[in-house]
Amino acid sequence: MKKLIYSLIWVSVVYVIIAPIYLFFNNNYRDVDLFLLMGSIVGLVLFVVFFWQYALSLKVLNKFLRLDLATVIAVHKDLGIYSVILLFIHPLYKQIDSFFNDGSLKLLPSLETRFDQMVVVGEIGLALVLVTWVLGYLIKKYITFRFWKFTHLATYLVMPIVYIHATQIGSFISHPLIYIFINILFVTYLVFVFIRLIDASGIFKAKYKLINKEVINDVLQLTLEPTKSYSRIKSRMGQFIYTQLTPFGEAHPYSIVWNDNKGVLVLGLKAVGKFSKQLLHAKLDSIIMLDGPYGKFLDGIEKVEHAVFIAGGIGITPFVEFTLNSNNINSIKKIDFFYATKTLNDSVFVNKQSIKNLPKVNLVNVLSLQTNINEANVEQGFVTHSLINKYNKSMNNCEYYICGPALMMKAVSEDLIKNGIEPSKIHTEEFSW
Ligand SMILES: Cc1cc2nc3c(=O)[nH]c(=O)nc-3n(C[C@H](O)[C@H](O)[C@H](O)COP(=O)(O)OP(=O)(O)OC[C@H]3O[C@@H](n4cnc5c(N)ncnc54)[C@H](O)[C@@H]3O)c2cc1C
Repeated sequence: MKKLIYSLIWVSVVYVIIAPIYLFFNNNYRDVDLFLLMGSIVGLVLFVVFFWQYALSLKVLNKFLRLDLATVIAVHKDLGIYSVILLFIHPLYKQIDSFFNDGSLKLLPSLETRFDQMVVVGEIGLALVLVTWVLGYLIKKYITFRFWKFTHLATYLVMPIVYIHATQIGSFISHPLIYIFINILFVTYLVFVFIRLIDASGIFKAKYKLINKEVINDVLQLTLEPTKSYSRIKSRMGQFIYTQLTPFGEAHPYSIVWNDNKGVLVLGLKAVGKFSKQLLHAKLDSIIMLDGPYGKFLDGIEKVEHAVFIAGGIGITPFVEFTLNSNNINSIKKIDFFYATKTLNDSVFVNKQSIKNLPKVNLVNVLSLQTNINEANVEQGFVTHSLINKYNKSMNNCEYYICGPALMMKAVSEDLIKNGIEPSKIHTEEFSW
């Protein structure tokens, strides 16, 4: 899927590389030399990359095209890095051109001519992208997610700025080959912005009523019921939804713990920050807007005979429904379930909706902080290849599904790969983008 997205991006990028070269050699662009041609190409590629950045960030489009949100976000991040590199290269050509023409460098912004003014417009766009890049990549761990998200939204201003800059002073922009293409992208971008606003308003999101709220061992369990039968979310096991409390309010992702055939849906979450605490204090019967389902974590599991589930803390949520249903799923013969928590008390969904004592499931609790438990299937330490091997002697014939804190997922995946498990057999779900 990542390949398909990259192919589409490549086609559009190649078009804006070939079209100016074709025009340069076949039309009479007397005021354009090779440096300006290169600068124009980089500028046009940037425009296309920005366009894809917006397209990929549109959840509605992802849902409509059934794309995997995690993969799409990964591509979105890659493009962010490429666009910053291109942003530095684009003005360079203008400087080189000016240096070769009259020996000068135009480093300071000037507002003298209309051309200069439009260059400044482009530089404002450049500054905005740079600020987002510094916040998003260089210092993201030092700022709050909320502040990052807010500043990230400011990049929506970049496309109109770049559009004005390009259409006013772009070297090839007046030719229909470029003009029509750029305008199609820009109008599509405006449609995307409109769709995003409608989406954020929550008008078309599924409305669910909070019918039960329980805190079990630090984990808030919410039970929700659709207010209208037609707005019921039909999810596959292991998928997640976005929850939103107010129109234009924040939307946060949560894995679906359970979704029954009447649409009653259960979420399990740690109330750690501002939004999750609002969910903790939400009153019964209040309406929560849901958007989804998203995700492909357990896709393909219907063909798996022997699965190894590795959950860290609240990372257990995407596994619960499949595990509880495992008896009715003929294809699956065995699940080795390694559940890593600090203490045994932190284990959720083990006693009440018990993932324990199911015929096909071998549950092993792995405790990082508690040492005083001397029971079968309770281990002290961390999930490693050798620990799994103690319970599973046919490790090369299994598919591995891991969900938990980022560090744990990385450590377990690397250990499995180091010990000969094929990377294609390891499937992960991250709880943060
Ligand atoms: C696919 C997926 C499934 C998830 N499933 C669960 C689950 O079943 N149970 C559970 O407890 N948590 C789950 N999470 C994590 C959950 O979304 C965050 O813990 C929650 O949004 C934090 O919000 P907050 O207000 O409590 O804390 P904040 O202080 O706002 O955020 C704490 C951290 O959560 C992450 N986060 C915050 N907002 C978002 C957002 N809109 N999108 C992505 N990450 C965000 C960031 O890394 C941030 O630093 C899931 C996350 C993802 C991406």
